Amino acid sequence: MRVRFAPSPTGHLHVGNARTALFNWLLARGQGGTFVLRLEDTDEARSTVASADGILEDLRWLGLDWDEGPDTGGAFGPYRQTERLTVYRTQAERLRASGQAYYCFCTPADLDAAREAALRESRTPQYAGTCRGLDPATAQARVDAGEAAAIRFRVPDEAAVTFTDLVRGPITTDIAMIGDFVLLRQSGLPAYNFAVVVDDVAMAISLVVRGEDHVPNTPRQCLLYRALGVDPPQFAHLSLVLGPDHAPLSKRHGASSVGDFRARGILPEALRNYLALLGWSPGHDEEIVPLDELARRFRVEDVTRSAGVFDPDKLAWMNRHYLKEADPGRLAGLLEPHLVAAGHLAAGSGAAPAVQTFLRTCVPLIAGTVDQLADAPERLRPVFEAPRPAAVVEHLASEAAEAAEAGRAVVIAFAQELSARPRLTRESFREAAQQVRQRTGQKGRALFHPIRLALTGADSGPELDLLVPAIEAGADVPRDLGLPPIVGCRERAAICAAAILGV
Ligand code: GLU
Repeated sequence: MRVRFAPSPTGHLHVGNARTALFNWLLARGQGGTFVLRLEDTDEARSTVASADGILEDLRWLGLDWDEGPDTGGAFGPYRQTERLTVYRTQAERLRASGQAYYCFCTPADLDAAREAALRESRTPQYAGTCRGLDPATAQARVDAGEAAAIRFRVPDEAAVTFTDLVRGPITTDIAMIGDFVLLRQSGLPAYNFAVVVDDVAMAISLVVRGEDHVPNTPRQCLLYRALGVDPPQFAHLSLVLGPDHAPLSKRHGASSVGDFRARGILPEALRNYLALLGWSPGHDEEIVPLDELARRFRVEDVTRSAGVFDPDKLAWMNRHYLKEADPGRLAGLLEPHLVAAGHLAAGSGAAPAVQTFLRTCVPLIAGTVDQLADAPERLRPVFEAPRPAAVVEHLASEAAEAAEAGRAVVIAFAQELSARPRLTRESFREAAQQVRQRTGQKGRALFHPIRLALTGADSGPELDLLVPAIEAGADVPRDLGLPPIVGCRERAAICAAAILGV
């Protein structure tokens, strides 16, 4: 099996296209096939090198490696259409020489006028056949004399063309719906339908898996395969990916490109797993499926015809799962840019060992609790922001007299307890709390609520067992390493106790 992903580098990699790439990749990897990457960059006005680089980078990030492609090479290259222009010309000439194509001298202005007239009269625009009957020798003479010509396909005189789609079943198109179409433009650049067929033949592609927006192109492509004397590959057209409102997923819905999700801190394994289940299911309601297992079980025949509706909540749930599973060292590294973006860390400071230790200590606070790493800075706010002592005093004062008094006593005892201790670990924090319990007689919420208030100024928040070590690791980071000063637990408690005591 040889499959391919053939993006046009005219923008970012949309998740719908990423799913197309993934399905092709799963087929190749699951069935010992070859995955080819081809850049369809013949749209001069819209293709950019930056887009091509970005698409390759996004595919790599998703872990979808290719066996042949523009950078890796391969026996069927080149894999960039702009490097294959002579191949298209040769094949177009071949079709013209056999009478299956002809020179067309119609100017873009002529064609536009005919098209507008058809639309005005509510007819489907179709080439009128102006140059179809030109005598080939005369046409050749005009070309030899320097006149610009396109090469146009002569659609055969038949009733219909049929192909069987592995997802959608047989699809028959009335040939009267297909006018003679351009293979090679006057500029020498190939039209999409022609380039794609020439390349899929030359690259020995056996199965074409792509978006359903290409269903209307497939009958034309089938005619071209026949004209070139080769059997068409198998086709499978995937439904569009829709947003929750059932409109095609776009920027309007927030994130729609792979880069958007990556920037939000969605892990590649989560996006991959999520996209695999968008329109396909391994059965038995399984949702978390490792990649090799997906590859082993994926069958394109089992993909649904109905559109895949993108469910951000389900992706968030999967991402939480994968964040929980991920290696803490890796997450610490991934956390860095988000803290930089939130202004909690200077760019480039994550390499210092003390900052590394701090980031790793922050990981348990976010893994499994945030939907995406972009939410981590907010979750970590209590680490970076010490409470205002006046607010803590006020908060305690707002409670019932007895609880307020007990709370003040806990904060004071907690401050005294910490004054003699080095920076806390999870264990020594528990011991300290135990001591405060003994000294004040408070336990449960009556013990931990005032402690939380003194450390964070808030009623609720992350587990103290996890928060305390993160605050302490932050407080231990030397000043000049790009981390704003973090006030340690001892100091937080001392300042609150002093405010309570009015000193
Ligand atoms: N370049 C086309 C696109 O990006 C895909 C062509 C194909 O898969 O046949 O939509």
